[in-house]
Amino acid sequence: MNADAVKLLQGRYCNSLTAYSRFVTREVTIGDVPMGGNNPIRIQSMTTTDTMDTIGTVEQSIRMVDAGCEYVRITAPSIKEANNLAEIKKQLRQRGYNVPLVADIHFTPNAAEVAARIVEKVRVNPGNYADKKKFDQIDYTDLEYRGELERIYQKFAPLVKICKEYGTAMRIGTNHGSLSDRIMSRYGDTPQGMVESAMEFIRMCETLNYYNLVVSMKSSNPQVMVQAYRLLVQTMVAEGMNYPLHLGVTEAGDGEDGRIKSAVGIGTLLEDGLGDTVRVSLTEEPEAEAPVAIALVKRYTERSPTQPSPEGRALEVSPAGGDLEGAGSSIRGDLEGAHSPYEYKKRETYEANAFIGGHMVPRVVVDLSRENLKDPAVMSAAGYLYSPLLDKYNMAEQSVDFVYLADSLPSFTLPGNLKQLYNYSTWKTLANKTLCHPVFTLQEYIDANDNTSALNLVKIKNADLDTDAFGMAAFDKTLVFVLETNELHGMADQRSFFLKLQEMGLDVPVIIKRSYSGLAQKISPTQPSPKGRALEVSPAGGDLEGAATTLLQLYAATDFGALLVDGFGDGIWIDAPQIATDVITSTAFGILQATRSRISKTEYISCPSCGRTLFDLMITTQMIRSRTSHLKGLKIGIMGCIVNGPGEMADADYGYVGSGTDKITLYRGKEAVKKNISSANALDELIGIIKGDGNWIEPA
Ligand code: SF4
Repeated sequence: MNADAVKLLQGRYCNSLTAYSRFVTREVTIGDVPMGGNNPIRIQSMTTTDTMDTIGTVEQSIRMVDAGCEYVRITAPSIKEANNLAEIKKQLRQRGYNVPLVADIHFTPNAAEVAARIVEKVRVNPGNYADKKKFDQIDYTDLEYRGELERIYQKFAPLVKICKEYGTAMRIGTNHGSLSDRIMSRYGDTPQGMVESAMEFIRMCETLNYYNLVVSMKSSNPQVMVQAYRLLVQTMVAEGMNYPLHLGVTEAGDGEDGRIKSAVGIGTLLEDGLGDTVRVSLTEEPEAEAPVAIALVKRYTERSPTQPSPEGRALEVSPAGGDLEGAGSSIRGDLEGAHSPYEYKKRETYEANAFIGGHMVPRVVVDLSRENLKDPAVMSAAGYLYSPLLDKYNMAEQSVDFVYLADSLPSFTLPGNLKQLYNYSTWKTLANKTLCHPVFTLQEYIDANDNTSALNLVKIKNADLDTDAFGMAAFDKTLVFVLETNELHGMADQRSFFLKLQEMGLDVPVIIKRSYSGLAQKISPTQPSPKGRALEVSPAGGDLEGAATTLLQLYAATDFGALLVDGFGDGIWIDAPQIATDVITSTAFGILQATRSRISKTEYISCPSCGRTLFDLMITTQMIRSRTSHLKGLKIGIMGCIVNGPGEMADADYGYVGSGTDKITLYRGKEAVKKNISSANALDELIGIIKGDGNWIEPA
């Protein structure tokens, strides 16, 4: 990172690290649904139909609005589609839908200039608005670089002038995967490069006195995405700007993985008080995206604007009315000077019992105390498949590290490598303590003065650090904290705990524990009302259990993800008595995968599809997943078009990209290795490439 970036790191990015406080941005006009300022956090999505299919696009837009979308984005790859936006808009208005429309533009300034006269907002990608991506490394002198900016200005200024004239808003939408060769050459594939890519365009807009702007910093890697948005806010604040933020994780995939990945990125920033609109990108129907966005956002509509800092220090500032001058000097980002929120660094801890902390991957705890502990088959929910015939367990990539049994004693033998956790009062009565460890309350730990176990887990809350009792606790390298919270803004409370440990110089490993009860009560049995702002979490098809599972995935991914992306946490423990244990186990491993802190499965970077898509993304993703899901750690990009796909799939190891009707181009990293092959045998060919590279293993 260069000297400028280091200077930036001394700045701030959010109002408070230890309390919920929304960062108030400038209000932007988008039709009659304004964004930013004190407006609610808006929900939006994008159509997947061909933009020339007017009826299909209108009907899909209506389904999206009825599902809760407040803006609808439609791709405009050329002037033809841009012109057809007028017909789509007319038919929507005739049917009583006044939803603001957004034209999505890549590579085609002429289409943008048409669309900006028709719709309420245009989205431009600064990586490809005036540049074609060739993956060239070019060493620009400062003079040449300024010359490039002047060239871009000449291409971009006409659009800005049209937007000003027509009152059209604009999103400067940077994508990690489609940074221009110019930005890549100077800043690399970094959050700083993403920020600078947008800032160049924002500065040009301001030169032209145009301020109706929204900004986004998307990536398929939630860690990069979070760092880029934080750095963007800090950079904007330093330059006296506070444009609204459009939050999204690109190519998040589908199902549980897509929801967890989205929540880690979007939820982390919402916890920071950042974000004015949310788009969740799933490889599913677009109307499936709005309920996920609604569930993520709804938590903050119920949260009071500013909670007192738990440790009583003055750590929060609310820029009243978006008063940046007053707030700018207080926007926080230095994590008390000890931890950078703009780059990943795991908190340093000691290794306890050569099992947790230090450089170990975060450990997973599940609670089996409420299960039938007379049947070894119960262990399958914790990732250990029991074979009665062989009387043995099979471990897998998603086998948990600890089971919590509270005061219940199993009547069968547990897997030989699995650590068992008991409440201290029960643990001390066990005849055989091999692999069994106590869980103390803080007071029990102080009173017992018993550290005969190789691991001693002590339940603790942030507020305990300020008590006299904490000062009486004995510290040795068998100690591991289990961090709990009852606070409404639990993530900030737990982050405050980590900051205080850092201040105290304590390197005790910490298992983060969050409890989720009453999830079913948060679900509305009715569908949201059409055309309104529908901030209800409704179960698709009345599936309450499925909806509760989704809520758990989203909430836990937000709460744990927000700490893990900052390198906090040596283990995670999701306590959700109403949710099946196997779901808790897969959610825990999904969160660790999405934060890239523990890899246990294949990662799919699949685009949500749009009007450019050349094959059925959902079916193709399922087909590829069915044959490659055992390839732990491999990242496979599945992208609907060759125009954006290769860039957007970012750091995928292999890519499966639509390049024509029934035609697929296969990539190894950024290199096209098989071009325009038939889709009928493209998957076999992809597997052949993976095998040829020595990256294939046969499924178990
Ligand atoms: S990669 Fe997918 S979402 Fe992106 S433009 Fe192509 S088809 Fe559309």
